[in-house]
Amino acid sequence: MRLSLLASVLTLSLALGVAVPAGAQSGAALVYTVRAGDTLYRIATERGLNPADLLRLNNLTSPDLSVGQVLRLPSGAAATTPAPTKPAVTKPATAAPANPAPVNVVSGVTVRAPARLTMGDAFVLRLSGQDAGNAVVSFPSETGEDVRKPAEVLTPIGAAGEYVVLGRVVLGKTTPLVYTVRVGQDVLKGSVPVSALDQPIQHLTLAKTLTDRLKAPERPAEEKVVEAAYALRTPQAWSRPFSPPLDSRSVSSSFGQPRTYLAGGPVAYHYGMDFPAKIGTPVRAVNDGRVVIAATYPVRGGLVAIDHGAGLLSLYFHQSKLLVKVGQVVRRGDVIGQVGTTGLSAGPHLHLEMRVRGEGTLPTLYFNRLWP
Ligand SMILES: [Zn+2]
Repeated sequence: MRLSLLASVLTLSLALGVAVPAGAQSGAALVYTVRAGDTLYRIATERGLNPADLLRLNNLTSPDLSVGQVLRLPSGAAATTPAPTKPAVTKPATAAPANPAPVNVVSGVTVRAPARLTMGDAFVLRLSGQDAGNAVVSFPSETGEDVRKPAEVLTPIGAAGEYVVLGRVVLGKTTPLVYTVRVGQDVLKGSVPVSALDQPIQHLTLAKTLTDRLKAPERPAEEKVVEAAYALRTPQAWSRPFSPPLDSRSVSSSFGQPRTYLAGGPVAYHYGMDFPAKIGTPVRAVNDGRVVIAATYPVRGGLVAIDHGAGLLSLYFHQSKLLVKVGQVVRRGDVIGQVGTTGLSAGPHLHLEMRVRGEGTLPTLYFNRLWP
């Protein structure tokens, strides 16, 4: 639910970045080139830096970053950066995971997990070995927390000799993510540290015509249909990388932004990413799947939801026109509707959510990748 009156506060957030020396000379300052998905907060904290110091060093007045922007890092940054271990042998570039993954073995099954996560991340556990297909994966750190469908015991999904299980980190939680992999009687338990998104709460002052939508009589029906879609657990329907929902490259991301919509009201996270575009711009399916919602609601406006299987749902809000029907099978890139400003929206844009078992995850982690 983007409010285009407000400049989005923080930009993109993805996983990787490189710190490279500015020159070959000794003593050269370190610089970092911003990649799609980076946040200033993450760039700073991963190097043990204070985000405010990084702002000051670069004479920035806001934490907004753009792709390709070059940031100066303090000379001490390199020492505090945990350097990835150099592999003894050169791996094929296509096989390299986003993070150097800790590897654990249980009953001959090799488990690869991410080294670290940020709230709102989606990620995968990769299982290989003869018995990988018999492993049962769960995420006990989510049990008992205030999350939807928390008690997940999953059957891994086969993919090219490797079993891949989709996980996610709930927005608002910074306790370590815990996973277990059970093979027969043996259980491996692992945990991954979780960082916060450094976003101050945004207090929105909306026109009454908009806030009235939060109390519309159709609201319970809207939530019910969405919750039912979150609960779907169908087989993985995609086999190709995800693609962005608009041809436009314009992304105004405020994913994970904590907000209040009413004065003194509860804090809600922004579970999606906003793509500003003209009314009528074609909206495309990010990947193969089946349409499970196609209707107009008070808050989400013209809404399409696509079930991709494996507990993954993509949702497209505020559309002016819906061009698919419930039950329809769509392929990646198919036009499903048109950009609009329906529902709780103050200007034309597409709000995209990528929900893993009901929780919003960072959309840019998927684009051009088979898995986040
Ligand atoms: Zn939004």
